[in-house]
Amino acid sequence: MDFKLQTGIFTEEQNFKPLKTDIVYDVLILGGGPAGFTAAVYCMRKGVSTGLIVKEIGGQVAETAGIENYMGYRYINGMDLAMKFKEQVAQFGIDYDEKGTVKAIETGDVKKVRLTDGRVFSARALIIATGAAWRKLGVPGEDELRGKGVANCSTCDAPFYVNKKVVVVGGGNSGIEAAIDLAKVGEKVTMVQFLDRLTGDKSLEDKLHEFKNVQVRYEHEVTGINGSQSVESVTVKNRKTGKTEDVSAQGIFVEIGLVPNSEFAKGVLKLNQAGEIMVDCASRTSAPGIFAAGDVTDVPFKQIIIAAGEGAKAALSACNYILMGE
Ligand SMILES: Cc1cc2nc3c(=O)[nH]c(=O)nc-3n(C[C@H](O)[C@H](O)[C@H](O)COP(=O)(O)OP(=O)(O)OC[C@H]3O[C@@H](n4cnc5c(N)ncnc54)[C@H](O)[C@@H]3O)c2cc1C
Repeated sequence: MDFKLQTGIFTEEQNFKPLKTDIVYDVLILGGGPAGFTAAVYCMRKGVSTGLIVKEIGGQVAETAGIENYMGYRYINGMDLAMKFKEQVAQFGIDYDEKGTVKAIETGDVKKVRLTDGRVFSARALIIATGAAWRKLGVPGEDELRGKGVANCSTCDAPFYVNKKVVVVGGGNSGIEAAIDLAKVGEKVTMVQFLDRLTGDKSLEDKLHEFKNVQVRYEHEVTGINGSQSVESVTVKNRKTGKTEDVSAQGIFVEIGLVPNSEFAKGVLKLNQAGEIMVDCASRTSAPGIFAAGDVTDVPFKQIIIAAGEGAKAALSACNYILMGE
């Protein structure tokens, strides 16, 4: 059934209202990925005054070609799922700022959120859901061919590479895991590792060596990704000899780590060595009244369904803090 017909009230214009600088919100949510949008739904349904600040709608979801592991959809395009999240939030009439980038936060009974454009918003509680960004190689072709063969999440995208040749960059646990996922379905996997050895767990390495269709190029680096409409080859350089070579491939998985979007929380909240915001089992950070959820936190396994669940949990904790002082 069409949701709009069912309620008769939904339009984005009516239901998204500008975020206000002259009031103190109960809760301000930072980030519009699965964690932030889910937190917004939970806060609005609890009846607390809520504002949402989003730099880019959908976060990593919007960058994903196809999703097959979010319940309720056998398959959905990433941008379509992001817009469904946004639509679900819009029905509650939330105060919303799209294209707002958080630069700094301040603790206290009333928390302050400063944006890069100079505006400052206030709230009694914050939910940080600013996610993470993949660390990039920074080579020609990487941005242009993103989503057209340049990928990062093998759990998500390996099924698109059945009987294809792929390159995996990075020889740590995530690189090895990606190579194993891809070796199961692909024709050939070329791993490109900067060092003269892999740096993942031995058990994973042993498993990797069981696959005959994986070749590891030690002491190599990627210097370019080539193709007109999609990836056709990857240029690799031998770091010892300086010799370059084009490796034929339809895909390249860049597995050199994720960077949490937590810059603004440094020195304010407790972060782990990876820069992730440390949370307890109720999504509480080291500062009272500041909660965090999703990929920006130290919760393991970075997936949409996990981020959404963590967003719900952070919202319920924030509402308890506002309504019951817990
Ligand atoms: C290419 C790719 C494919 C993937 N495929 C799948 C898949 O098939 N299935 C699956 O389960 N998972 C997949 N993942 C992982 C999944 O997308 C993430 O785990 C999930 O999106 C994390 O949600 P999040 O809300 O924590 O963060 P994000 O999705 O990263 O969203 C963060 C939000 O915060 C905003 N933000 C960031 N910095 C600021 C700031 N300073 N101020 C204001 N806002 C800010 C961003 O713009 C964004 O709106 C994939 C990831 C990628 C990159």
